[in-house]
Amino acid sequence: MNPIEIIIKKRDKHELTRDEINFMVDGYTKSKIPDYQFSSFLMAIYANGMSIRETADLSFAMIYSGKTLDLESAGYTIDKHSTGGVGDKITLIVIPLAASAGLTVPTMFGRALGHTGGTHDKLESIKGFKMFLTEKQIIKQLQKIGAVMIGTSGDCAPADKKIYALRDVTGTVESIPLIAASIISKKFAEGTDALLMDVKTGNGAFMKSHKDARLLAKTIVSISKVMGKKTVALITDMNQPLGHTVGNALEVKEALDTLQCKGPDDVTKLSLTITAHMLLLGKKAHTFTEAYTVAETHLRNGCAYRKFIEIVKSQGGNVKQIAHPYSFKKPRYIKKCKSISKGYITNINTYEIGMIANILGAGRLKLTDKIDSSAGIVFHKKIGDSVKKGDTLCEIHTDKKECIIEALERISFSIQIEKKKPHAQKLILGIAK
Ligand code: URA
Repeated sequence: MNPIEIIIKKRDKHELTRDEINFMVDGYTKSKIPDYQFSSFLMAIYANGMSIRETADLSFAMIYSGKTLDLESAGYTIDKHSTGGVGDKITLIVIPLAASAGLTVPTMFGRALGHTGGTHDKLESIKGFKMFLTEKQIIKQLQKIGAVMIGTSGDCAPADKKIYALRDVTGTVESIPLIAASIISKKFAEGTDALLMDVKTGNGAFMKSHKDARLLAKTIVSISKVMGKKTVALITDMNQPLGHTVGNALEVKEALDTLQCKGPDDVTKLSLTITAHMLLLGKKAHTFTEAYTVAETHLRNGCAYRKFIEIVKSQGGNVKQIAHPYSFKKPRYIKKCKSISKGYITNINTYEIGMIANILGAGRLKLTDKIDSSAGIVFHKKIGDSVKKGDTLCEIHTDKKECIIEALERISFSIQIEKKKPHAQKLILGIAK
C-alpha cells in the first residue's frame, strides 16, 4: 500500500477500507509515515469526514496500536470524559464523587489541547502526584479505593498520543471522526466497560454548533455500540468558562471548594448530573432523581472530598497541599480587568479566554512549552451579572510581565456588556444514548 494513494482517495471523498486505515495508523505510529504525509491525511479527513464504519475502524486501529489493559479483576468499570472546555474541572470532582458512591472509575486523560485545558496538567499542580501507574498498581488501587486518575501513557493507544499532538499543531482538532476515534481509543484501550461523555458545545468548545455536538455525541455512542460497550453522552453548554477559574492550580482549588460544598452553582450542578448518569450506567440507582440524590448525599456528607484525598495519597501527592490550598504555587503578578461600561454581561468569547489563559502560561503555545501551574484567569462576573463602570470583571494571574497589557486588552474585548439582561442559559442541552 502507498500513503499517497490513500491520502488522494480520502481527498477525493471516497470511503477507505479497514486495511487502508490500519496501514496509515500503524505506519504513523511506527514513524514509517512522516508527519507531513499524516498531516495531509488528517486534513483530508477533517475536510471530508468519515462514515461510522470508517470511524469505528480508525478507533480500532488506534486501540490496537498499543497495549490494552485488562481491568476485569477490578469489577465493572465506568469512566467519564469531556470533549474539552475552558475552566472544565468537572472530572476532578466527578471521579472521587462517583467512586465514593460505589462505582469503580479508571480514568485516564490527556493534556491541554488547543484553547482547552487538560486534566493531566491540572493534577500536575499537586506536588508529587504520580500521573503514571503500572497495570498492577491501577488494578490494586481500583480494588482498594475505586478510582485512579492517570495520564495517557505511551503504552495505551500510542497512536492517539502521537496523532493528538499532530492535530494540535495542524488545524485538525475540530473534526467529528478524529475526536470520536481519539476519545474511544483512549477510553477503551484503558479497559473501561462503560463511558459517560460530556460533549461540549458553544463558543468555547470544539463543536461550536448544537447540531455538530449532537452528531459527535451520536457518533461516539454508535461506535461504542460497535465495540460492545455502553456510552451515554450529555451535551452541555460551553458558552462561558465553567465556574470562576481558568488555569491549572486555580481550577484544582475550585474543584476542592466544590468537593467541600463551597463551589459555584454551575460546577456543582454539572458534577452532580454527570455523576448521576454514571450511577445509572452502573445500576446503582433506578431513576435519575434517585441517582442525583445519591450523588448529592455523597457530596454533602464529605465522602467525595475524603475520596479525593485518598486518591491523592495513594498516588503519592502532597495531601497537606490539599488541606492548605494557599500552598499551591502563587503567580508573580495579579492584575484586575475593570469594566468600562454599565449593564449586563451578555456574551463571553470563551475560545479567546482559553487562548489568553495559554498566553499567561496556563497552556502551551508550542509543544516544548512548560506550563505555569499558577497562571490563569479568575472571573468575578459571568453572563447575566450586572456590572457598574469600574467593577472588576476578572483578574489575570501570571509570571509573564510582558503579557499583561495584551491579556487585559484582549479580555476586555472578549466580554460583552449590554443594557438588556440576557435570558438565562441552559447548562445541560441534551443527551444521546
Ligand atoms: N478530547 C480527546 O481526548 N480527543 C480529542 O480529539 C478532543 C477532545
